[in-house]
Amino acid sequence: MKGRKLLMIPGPIEFEPAVMQATAMATTSHVAPDFIETFGHSLEMMRDVWLSPSGQPFIIAGTGTLAMDMAGSNLIEPGDRALVISTGYFGDRYADLLKRYGAEVTVLKAATGDVVDIKEVEKELNSKSYKLLTFTHVDTSTAVRVDPRPLGLLGQKYGVLTILDGVCSVAGEEIRQDEWMLDVVFTASQKAVGVPPGLALMVVSERAVNAWRSRKTPVGNYYCDWNNWLPVMKAYEERRPSYFGTPAVNLVNGLEVSLGIILKEGMEARFGRHRRIGRSFRTAMRDLGLKMIPISEEISAGTLSAPYYPDGVRGAEFMRAIAASDVILAGGLLQGIKDSYFRVGHMGSVTEGDILTTVSAIEHCLQKCGHNIVRGIGLRGAAGELQ
Ligand code: PMP
Repeated sequence: MKGRKLLMIPGPIEFEPAVMQATAMATTSHVAPDFIETFGHSLEMMRDVWLSPSGQPFIIAGTGTLAMDMAGSNLIEPGDRALVISTGYFGDRYADLLKRYGAEVTVLKAATGDVVDIKEVEKELNSKSYKLLTFTHVDTSTAVRVDPRPLGLLGQKYGVLTILDGVCSVAGEEIRQDEWMLDVVFTASQKAVGVPPGLALMVVSERAVNAWRSRKTPVGNYYCDWNNWLPVMKAYEERRPSYFGTPAVNLVNGLEVSLGIILKEGMEARFGRHRRIGRSFRTAMRDLGLKMIPISEEISAGTLSAPYYPDGVRGAEFMRAIAASDVILAGGLLQGIKDSYFRVGHMGSVTEGDILTTVSAIEHCLQKCGHNIVRGIGLRGAAGELQ
């Protein structure tokens, strides 16, 4: 009896004990020398995790939606055109958000489980003059993975700023921000970065900072305005005290430890581990007769999976059975098909053992709900991919 269950949702995730210990230390002043060092060091490590040696990192108290807001509000002026590629719930959210800042938004919406063809994106960029192109790396409602590389390069070709919503991907899926010419890549702490909820994290290119500097109108959001935050980030990196809004001191302590763990594993090894774990989980689901929302392996995420319930299994009944098990999973999120699938997060500190435990719980619950399977078949499939 551990007194707790295995948390396998797409964030918050299971956190490393060393990270939890760091967040539990006595809170210090946000301008104490030790904390300035922790903050500055965390900013430096972000560049290595984002693979963006030239980018400007930001660590802000808030959630992933605040990161979306910060990127949008600083880069959009009323009347600017924005092209949003939507592969689910969070793409749609970005379109709504950008409209609040006066953007003229066009949405290219993928069919459920699919991505938007790159040719269609290029055609649209060719047809009008856009300021901004946004896309979700892994949409948490569908587990569809978009390839950011060609989109970053398209942005460069057409002189359009690119924003990658990496909330469900940074520190899990492969991202090379500088090489792929991505202007803003953001995430939230509770996902693959591995820190309890409460930090919005982003790295911004020089090109985006310059676009912000040449705005003609003030940023329409006081808390988000980079005028307030850029001097603070620069000061921490130069190990000087500074203040605009009180940083989430304890979470930043956890962030320093977690980024250290991520870099110790190494980015290439980490990308590979997520690919392997994702493949293993999907193999198990297919062997159990479950179809996934992403229509192909090529566009399936390593951080998250979204299987449909098999014929004959009622979602509510399955989720009740899971609730009584030792693992915590998430239900569907995408309007229209919400009740026909469930979601399993497998990112960050997730282990092969966690995957096997989760597959075993799913097998058990599917069987309880009347799905006719040979027990162990999913486990065998998962384990086969892990060797
Ligand atoms: N974008 C994506 C892809 C997400 O998965 C989430 C959170 N699930 C968000 C944005 C918003 O993040 P938060 O819930 O931390 O505001």
